[in-house]
Amino acid sequence: MLQMKLCGDLVLREKCTPVSDVTPELLKTMDEMVKMMTKQNGVGLAAPQVGITQRFLVMMNPDTEEVYRMINPVILSKSDETSVMEEGCLSVLGADDLPVYANVKRPSTVVIEWTNEHGEKLTAEMSGVMARIAQHETDHLDGILFMDYLSGVKREMLMRKVNRRH
Ligand SMILES: [Zn+2]
Repeated sequence: MLQMKLCGDLVLREKCTPVSDVTPELLKTMDEMVKMMTKQNGVGLAAPQVGITQRFLVMMNPDTEEVYRMINPVILSKSDETSVMEEGCLSVLGADDLPVYANVKRPSTVVIEWTNEHGEKLTAEMSGVMARIAQHETDHLDGILFMDYLSGVKREMLMRKVNRRH
């Protein structure tokens, strides 16, 4: 059983190592992560959020409900154009155990490359909410959380709402 790691757990701040092989165990872990993500109405979940410091994640297109299992994802390029969107994280919960949200500015469009669950290398240009999720989730693999992008005051306001477990 995988366990969700919450804000304050240092595993969320680690730089994850590349996955060397697509093993049955890895696929099973990703299946479990998809279940956790959908159960909690999330659209993305990265390995360190379940305590695994390797470079893989799962995410879902909220419009089509298509699920992506990404191994060793790399953002190859980001647009100069930025947009502001509300973000939350299954590892950053408030007193009511629901995610806390904040507006975050990020590049609007990204090109991302990854290996899928069949070991195939794929590349896609993503924009809108998919670009947002891809950036948020790949950040997790480098120990970066969405509130790191907030200014001091806004970050403090958010963190006051966050229920820290550690
Ligand atoms: Zn997150």
